[in-house]
Amino acid sequence: MKKPVFAANFKMNLGPQETRSYLQTFLKEFPPAEDRTVIFFPPAISLVVAGFALRERPDIMLGIQNIHWEEKGAFTGENGAGMARDAGATVALVGHSERRHIFGEGDEITAKKCAAAFKAGLTVVLCVGEKIEERDRNTTQAVVLRQLKSGISRLTPAQVAQIAIAYEPVWAIGTGRTATPEDATAVHSAIRRSLRDVVSNRNTEIPILYGGSVSKANAESLLRAPEVDGLLVGGASLDPETWASIART
Ligand code: PEP
Repeated sequence: MKKPVFAANFKMNLGPQETRSYLQTFLKEFPPAEDRTVIFFPPAISLVVAGFALRERPDIMLGIQNIHWEEKGAFTGENGAGMARDAGATVALVGHSERRHIFGEGDEITAKKCAAAFKAGLTVVLCVGEKIEERDRNTTQAVVLRQLKSGISRLTPAQVAQIAIAYEPVWAIGTGRTATPEDATAVHSAIRRSLRDVVSNRNTEIPILYGGSVSKANAESLLRAPEVDGLLVGGASLDPETWASIART
């Protein structure tokens, strides 16, 4: 059985000092656990501090929330994937709904970022998810599968076999509304079937995470749902004790 993945997205919260004290508390609450994968996505500016705090915990992975698709150059304020790797990240979050809908990043940019991550030696958690109006029009699966196919379009099948997907309905992110375990299973199954076309039977190894208002109260029922291989959590990961308790689910 593959290990469940628990990924914490701090978004634009917890600078270096706060990240240091957060991780001190978290590590006390969360002893090494071989049966699950925990990933932290702190702000880029906190990566080095997080890497130092996690130096004796190789069971915990570190990722960057966003990368630019170019390696380097005149892109003020951006971070290249190679720089993220140098700062201790081994994973990049790509296609998060806030990147898509606040910063206007579409499928093509998302695909370029996935390719840039692999070029620099990072793997990817690719986020997909529909907006409420798309759900109301019954186009959830069409939207999610379009984002998925386009996101992986510049990757080789061997690279696709190494990524994780996060299904995050936009209407559930930070709203307190969560997809039901049945809703999540339906979309995750469609993602799984679509991955089969690209990586044939290796697709069952690709973790498909659910994200969107996950809390201590609903984590267990979501994780029990078929095809839900882990959780991507924003708000509820900002408190180290709450997050440790969710990651121990
Ligand atoms: C997220 O940012 O990926 C997320 C799922 O946020 P929240 O848990 O706050 O809904």
